[in-house]
Amino acid sequence: MSERNVDHAEVDKFDALARKWWDKNGEFRPLHEINPLRLGYITERVDLQGKRVLDVGCGGGILSESMVAEGARVMGIDAAEGPLNVAKLHRHESNIFPEYELTTIEELAAKSPEPFDVITCLEMLEHVPDPGSIIKTCRRLLKDDGTLFLSTINRNPKSYLFAIVGAEYVLNLLPKGTHDYDKLIKPAELAAYCRDAGFGVEDFTGMTYNPVTRTYKLGRDVDVNYLACARPV
Ligand code: SAH
Repeated sequence: MSERNVDHAEVDKFDALARKWWDKNGEFRPLHEINPLRLGYITERVDLQGKRVLDVGCGGGILSESMVAEGARVMGIDAAEGPLNVAKLHRHESNIFPEYELTTIEELAAKSPEPFDVITCLEMLEHVPDPGSIIKTCRRLLKDDGTLFLSTINRNPKSYLFAIVGAEYVLNLLPKGTHDYDKLIKPAELAAYCRDAGFGVEDFTGMTYNPVTRTYKLGRDVDVNYLACARPV
């Protein structure tokens, strides 16, 4: 725990692997593979053209860049320096230019920036000490008619088996130690964080991995990975 709502051990793990971020066959391969699905989930619900988007915990910028390519003006923030440096450099390779800042959402909110149309916070909440604080701060930084997109991993015996034992130890999809079981978040808990922050969750959609075809798909099964779309109420 830290006063900054940053778990340093967690952030250090991402720092150490940063230079592999855009290696599509490396440690972050799952993020590359799920990105079209989650971008589709977002663009089905909001037209990104011309929108101001805040991408919280943007890492090396996989989602941030893809949203700029859809016409959004994206600001990506991350608490880890390594991934953010990689994200900044990668802009010159892709010619896609999100704006990036090394900060937390709480620190950004303290500077009272203009509210955003869309906030995304994907695959990050299960790495922070206080996810509720992140979601509350998202509400402060989002327009009243804005949209919030979240994704994380459910917590139950099946998700332990699939997301930790399967992904980290059997299939080697993710580095060992990427996810800590106790920090995984049930949909009902995420809904409660959203409610407490003044959001209503409009949709939960699951993301499942088929190890035989090595493909991901969206569907109703939220037992392991899932996405959520919430709007201010
Ligand atoms: N959202 C990106 C990256 C997910 S990896 C994607 O889905 O493609 C999780 C990222 O969250 C890492 O880059 C890590 O450094 C960052 N992170 C962890 N805690 C954070 C915090 N409190 N504030 C901002 N970023 C954080």
